[in-house]
Amino acid sequence: MSVRVRFAPSPTGYLHVGGLRTALYNYLFAKNQGGTFILRIEDTDRTRLVEGAQEALIQSLKWAGIEHDEGPGKDGGKGPYIQSERFDLYRKYSEELIANDSAYYAFDTSEEIDAMRERQKKSGIAPKYDRSSMKNQYTLGDVETKKLLDSNAPHVVRLKVPFNEEIHFKDVIRGDVSVKGRDVDDQILLKSDGFPTYHLANVVDDHLMEITHVIRGEEWLPSTPKHILLYKAFGWEAPKFAHLPLLLNNNKTKLSKRHGDVAVEDFRQKGYIKEAFVNFVSLLGWNPSGENEIHSIDDLINGFNLEKVNKGGAIFDRPKLEWMNSMYLRQSPLEDLYKQIENKLSDSNITKDKEYIKSVINLLKERITFAHEIIEFGDYMFDKPKSFDEKYEKKQWKEDTLQKIEPLIQNFKALDTWNVDTMHKIAEDYINSNNMKFGQIMHPIRLMITGKPVGAGMFETMEILGKDECIDRFNDFIQKKKNA
Ligand code: GLU
Repeated sequence: MSVRVRFAPSPTGYLHVGGLRTALYNYLFAKNQGGTFILRIEDTDRTRLVEGAQEALIQSLKWAGIEHDEGPGKDGGKGPYIQSERFDLYRKYSEELIANDSAYYAFDTSEEIDAMRERQKKSGIAPKYDRSSMKNQYTLGDVETKKLLDSNAPHVVRLKVPFNEEIHFKDVIRGDVSVKGRDVDDQILLKSDGFPTYHLANVVDDHLMEITHVIRGEEWLPSTPKHILLYKAFGWEAPKFAHLPLLLNNNKTKLSKRHGDVAVEDFRQKGYIKEAFVNFVSLLGWNPSGENEIHSIDDLINGFNLEKVNKGGAIFDRPKLEWMNSMYLRQSPLEDLYKQIENKLSDSNITKDKEYIKSVINLLKERITFAHEIIEFGDYMFDKPKSFDEKYEKKQWKEDTLQKIEPLIQNFKALDTWNVDTMHKIAEDYINSNNMKFGQIMHPIRLMITGKPVGAGMFETMEILGKDECIDRFNDFIQKKKNA
């Protein structure tokens, strides 16, 4: 049987990095197995819907390159599946469960439920439907039930959880899991508004869509016994389950919004290169063999192994993510990097042409984490330095510095061909014949040209800036010193 998996987000907000990791593992597994990856929007809880969230989720997945393979017909047949378009379907299944005695009608008012919770709180027991309003354990009896249904009394349908049984299943990542029936709540399957809950819709759809492996976050593990009972009640074969480890902050607490951004969109906007981000996220809970951490999507697909996913929480190490971005940045085509920052350049009123910008990116790419950092880090590549680093100036510009390097500047001015080699040759001849060290000339030059103590190779920088610009800067600086 060929593998079929799904990513089933609820459109209640942005795509969380944990959601992306789930989507990615489903995707990698499907591609590794030559299977099918489905996207299913689980929007049955109408109270939690957030406008625009569905589009935002799809957008974020698309940015990350995670495309689904099949859908119910829209967008040229490529979905996604949307549960709210399938609502009628679920009621039929809840009725089937009532008919075969696996579920029951419950007519409690919200006040009665609140009172039950209150009682349980007082006695220190976990909140759970206690069937106290039922006769005969699970039912009010056929006559009374019918009477209430006929009078349109508000009701829900609940799963009849066998009190004395243990529910077992095998998780691909966690191994054998077993839970006592008495610890499982009689889950509402159909709400009083007639809408299915997540549990019913999720299981029905996983069955109808012939899902072979349910790969989802650990937070869904407590729901799985209920799902196992549902599969049994319908007489359906359950898929295999794999619950992915939690994502943690560096201090081992659960990754949360408080510790910084967790929305995929935020990372995109910060300028992360998608391949770097996907590479990083794919290693949150699993590692292809070997030391190397940089992997193309094809490597990730080829190496993916669901059984090798870790049980323990995975640390979302932000400095490592930045490092990974800088690694990808060095390898990225300049054209891509340029495109990434095009808008930011015009926001900063930088009007230099594309080729010039690309050469600046190329010059500085090993010294930055994000392409847009050239705007600040390399501001002197777009304009004359507005200020000069005070400490650096104090250290590198002494009383006699001008006198020591002025002849060299004259030699630069006389150059016909302005490139790294010609500048290097002049500088080398100069220090040799004056018995100087390279640093004695390079630091003052860096100061005059850039105003900053750090940057790329000085002659490389000067070649890109061009002769006229560099000579201007020398002159300006010397003038400034003379006026001081
Ligand atoms: N709709 C659930 C969610 O928002 C899906 C959980 C599952 O994959 O079963 O994550």
